[in-house]
Amino acid sequence: MKIGILALQGAVREHRNLLHRLGIDTVDVLNPQDLQGISGLILPGGESTTVGKLLVRYGLLQPIIDSGHQGLPIFGTCTGLILLSKHIRRSDQQRLGLMDICVERNAFGRQSDSFEADMPVPILGDKPFHTVFIRAPYIEKADKGVEILLTHQGKILFARQNKFLAAAFHPELTEDTRVHEYFLQLINQE
Ligand code: GLN
Repeated sequence: MKIGILALQGAVREHRNLLHRLGIDTVDVLNPQDLQGISGLILPGGESTTVGKLLVRYGLLQPIIDSGHQGLPIFGTCTGLILLSKHIRRSDQQRLGLMDICVERNAFGRQSDSFEADMPVPILGDKPFHTVFIRAPYIEKADKGVEILLTHQGKILFARQNKFLAAAFHPELTEDTRVHEYFLQLINQE
């Protein structure tokens, strides 16, 4: 199995290293041909307006949308969550629009632009997950088909719709591989 990592901008290396630790091959996705033969795609954190523009410039926006519709599992962290969403508050920026969620960007205010906390995520087991937030978005609304995996103070921070997975936090910045392993399970599920 080989996992693609969108490599236009952002925390690419961290996802790559974590997957290699799990013994999974990766390929940096920089053009549409790189999507061929991958079993899943990761959209790393970065800056979503920029990544959206680069997706258009590199001719990747529509091919990724098409791959998603054809069943390619996609996991987005932070900016990746924003790109996966159908609705972005007060923004007409480029997006993939694959998940029926409405997101608010930079939603934790300036003082707490970045913070870390241990949070219980039942789908990952009993041990809380150490979540790292960096100018993070949150999911304000999710349609019926979306499974909510973590909510904190009324804000949805982790969710799944079919084989699309979206996290407002950065599991690739911790040593804990459980979120990535959960994504690999989604890939392997029929
Ligand atoms: N604030 C960024 C955005 O709106 C997301 C930050 C991140 O990916 N860590 O795209």
